[in-house]
Amino acid sequence: AEKLDLISKCIRTFYDFPTKGIVFKDICPILKDPKALAAVTDLFEEHVRRRYPQVDLIVGIDARGFLFGPLLAQRLGVGFVPVRKKGKFPGPTLSVAYSLEYGTAEAEMQEDAVSAGEKVLIIDDLLATGGTLYAACELIKQQKAEVLGCLVVIELKSLNGSEKLPSTPVFSLIQY
Ligand code: 5GP
Repeated sequence: AEKLDLISKCIRTFYDFPTKGIVFKDICPILKDPKALAAVTDLFEEHVRRRYPQVDLIVGIDARGFLFGPLLAQRLGVGFVPVRKKGKFPGPTLSVAYSLEYGTAEAEMQEDAVSAGEKVLIIDDLLATGGTLYAACELIKQQKAEVLGCLVVIELKSLNGSEKLPSTPVFSLIQY
C-alpha cells in the first residue's frame, strides 16, 4: 500500500489533452522519481512471479510500454519485444488495425520477434478503451504464441476496456 501511494502521488491529470473532452493521466513524474519507478517494477515483478512464473517474454506497447517493460523483463530475466506504430520497423512485420480512445492506429511487430508457443505478458502504461491491448493480443495470436495476461500501471475503469479483452486477465496497479 505504501508503494501504491508513492505511485499514485506521481500521476498527474490534464484535461482536454490531446483533444477536447479527454482526461489525460500523465505518468512522467513516475519516471522522474526513482522510488516510484522502482515501486512500479517491484509490484509488477511480485505479481508476475506469483501468477505467471512460466512467462517467456514481455511485450511492450509504443510508447510508454517501452518505459516500464524492459525494467520488468530485466528483473524477471526474460526478453523484451516492442509493438510499434505502423512504419517504424525494418524487415518483415505483422500488423493489426485498431481504434483508439482518440483516433485510429495500426500496431506492428517484427515477424521473427515472437515464436509459436511462447508465453507472453503484454505491458503498457494505461488501459483506456482496450483497443490497443486488443490489437497487441491479436498480433501475439497471429504468431501462434500465448497471451498469459496484460499489465498496466493505470486502468480507467469507466471505459470498460477489460471487456474488450474477455479471455485475457488485466492486472492494474492504480484504478480510476
Ligand atoms: P486504449 O487503446 O485502451 O483506448 O488506449 C490506451 C493507449 O492510449 C495506451 O497505449 C496509452 O498509452 C494511451 N492513452 C490513452 N489515454 C491515456 C491517458 O490518459 N494517459 C496516458 N498516459 N496514456 C493514455
